[in-house]
Amino acid sequence: MKIILSKKIGFCFGVKKSVNLAKNALKARKDNLYMLGSIINNPQVIEYFTKKGVKIAGNLDEVPEESTVITRAHGISPKMLKKAYQKKLSVVDTTCPYVRKVQKIAHYLYKKDYFIVIYGDKKHPEVLSLLDTVQNNALVVNSIPDTEKITKKKKIGFISQTTKNIYDFYKLSSALLNKAEELRIFNTICKSTTERQKSALELAKEVDVMLVIGGKESANTTRLAEIGKNQGVKTYHIETKNQIKYKWFHPEDIVGITSGASTPDWVTNEVIDKLKEWYG
Ligand code: SF4
Repeated sequence: MKIILSKKIGFCFGVKKSVNLAKNALKARKDNLYMLGSIINNPQVIEYFTKKGVKIAGNLDEVPEESTVITRAHGISPKMLKKAYQKKLSVVDTTCPYVRKVQKIAHYLYKKDYFIVIYGDKKHPEVLSLLDTVQNNALVVNSIPDTEKITKKKKIGFISQTTKNIYDFYKLSSALLNKAEELRIFNTICKSTTERQKSALELAKEVDVMLVIGGKESANTTRLAEIGKNQGVKTYHIETKNQIKYKWFHPEDIVGITSGASTPDWVTNEVIDKLKEWYG
């Protein structure tokens, strides 16, 4: 068996920053430390923090006054941030700068009366915080048929969740061309996501089996698995070494490994070690 690693693998810049800020908060204050949802979409990393005493709150109402709250890498809306301060919470804002930038663009489009279209997953926290930023004045689309429902507008502003598929973003942008007199497109898919997807595509072209490692809830990891499948490669999305199955592989296989932006290296290394244990 030959194992090839994707050129882009491991924590992205935003996740690294978020995890480091959360670790610093742990060092500084152990009591009354809350995460507002999972700071990143990786169960192993979240388990690390909860074992050290960090509690997870579904919303700000669950956080007692004067506690410290750590926000997600994929965003807290300015409205929620204000609410947290009103509640006298100490906020460790780990929102990735790229996500913050999309919020600013969304706010700009809202102020300038654009009909805002967001390419994203309706329930993803990043999209929810974008909707909150524009007082819910936006349409979330995920496919070409979603855009077909849009009636002709004067001005459309098109943005994307940072972790969406760049190739689908191009297609959706084209589909919106005849929907408005003026169409402004902001490619807000982050560079790290785009590079990772391009590397995954290159990898898929040279392997027999592809393992994509990362949280099942992680949007960017799911996207990498889609890329493998779309290339017709046997692709498995796994979270840990315990989910790989011996029967998936043949001793002569070339196996490609990639991981989501929130997957720690130690999780990936454990998968590689297990494959080596089986196939030498
Ligand atoms: S994937 Fe991009 S937007 Fe998301 S945390 Fe990483 S760098 Fe930031």
